[in-house]
Amino acid sequence: MSENKFQEIKDNLRELYLKDERPWLVGFSGGKDSTMVAAMVFETVLSVPKEQRNKEVHFVCTDTRVEIPAIVEAIESTLARMRKCSIENDLKIEVHLLRPPAEQSFWANIIGRGYPPPNRTFRWCTQRLKIDPVNRFVETRLGRWSEAILHLGARRAESASRAQTLAGRESRNGLTRHADLPRVWVSNPIEHLSTEEVWAWLLQYPNPWGGDNRALYKLYANAGGGGECPIHIDTSTPSCGNSRFGCWTCTVVERDKASEGLLATGDERMEHLLSFRETLLEFREPSNGHRDMRRMNGNDGPGPLKIEARRELLKRLLKLQEETNLTLISDEELLLIQKFWKAARDPDDGRGVARIVNKQKGLVMTNLKEVNRLRDLQEQVAQEKQISVETLRRLLAKVEEYSEYERPRGLQDDMLNILRDDLAQQSLAESSSKPL
Ligand code: SF4
Repeated sequence: MSENKFQEIKDNLRELYLKDERPWLVGFSGGKDSTMVAAMVFETVLSVPKEQRNKEVHFVCTDTRVEIPAIVEAIESTLARMRKCSIENDLKIEVHLLRPPAEQSFWANIIGRGYPPPNRTFRWCTQRLKIDPVNRFVETRLGRWSEAILHLGARRAESASRAQTLAGRESRNGLTRHADLPRVWVSNPIEHLSTEEVWAWLLQYPNPWGGDNRALYKLYANAGGGGECPIHIDTSTPSCGNSRFGCWTCTVVERDKASEGLLATGDERMEHLLSFRETLLEFREPSNGHRDMRRMNGNDGPGPLKIEARRELLKRLLKLQEETNLTLISDEELLLIQKFWKAARDPDDGRGVARIVNKQKGLVMTNLKEVNRLRDLQEQVAQEKQISVETLRRLLAKVEEYSEYERPRGLQDDMLNILRDDLAQQSLAESSSKPL
């Protein structure tokens, strides 16, 4: 019975491949469902005679920069094999590992901007770390394509809500129009397979790019219960917060079963990473004193992480790098964090990150002479304009921060918030200096 189903999927894919020239995109997360779709796509292209392999096929995979090390290592090695297989067989399949830009990374947001570690109600990370990199890639490519077909490993058995969302969308010849990218048509080739059928197929056949899926099966077995983290293409994709393989920093899940499972099988790096995750949970809890008690918009309530808390997290993260021998934060992210700290409520003098890094790694990060010259200049301007030098520094840092973006949407509001803070602090200072 299943054999017929598998053959039917391959036949449909082959027909779709030969039908027109629309390029294909294939979402690949390294989980079982997307591995099956990837293998089916490879087999489809291999089955087509070389002279008819004219279609562009792009595999897209995301690396949030905070993926569980064992998972990202497995994915990188699979992608390398896929690339090799495509070149050797002239398949015209390209493989892309997409990462969020440094200014949107997990650390830039937490340690730099002071966002609290995510939870179910404030899950700011999925859009920035997973959805945006893919959408940016697709939008750039769509500039030169009229339409494209996107293959995903979504299955009805895995997510009832996803099935419901798909049911409401416009479809044509078995393809569904993408919710946010109207020129992209979504195909779910294994939509009707059960979990058992997916494993049966994966364990029976070797992958077209070499190797089998026993290691993948073992990873799942070690990682305990939960669903997998699918490739995130739009907001209707199920939350990765419940997934088996999310980010090692994920504070959306109550317990990180994947990391615990890997630790149980002897991956000792996970012990340190899991303990850092506990630190993130501790820093998120407002009653522990690491959060500002004024929100970013000036209202009362738990706001961003205090600057001292961000400093402490950076120290601990650099220590964690040494303990695990993993690169967990890049120099680019460190430089950005320095910029964010300069624009924070209780701004840093522009050398805080350098001081922590120098102490930890013995590296020199900034030209201190230049920093001092700028500081003198800022003091002069602040005096002339009759605003506090701290406010001026925050405003400048904000403009610098936004200069990295194509569209500075939100700059005006952010600057107004800084000026409001300045006014609030001035009136506080005035009222406390009045004689009783
Ligand atoms: S796995 Fe967790 S931390 Fe990572 S993007 Fe998903 S919800 Fe956010």
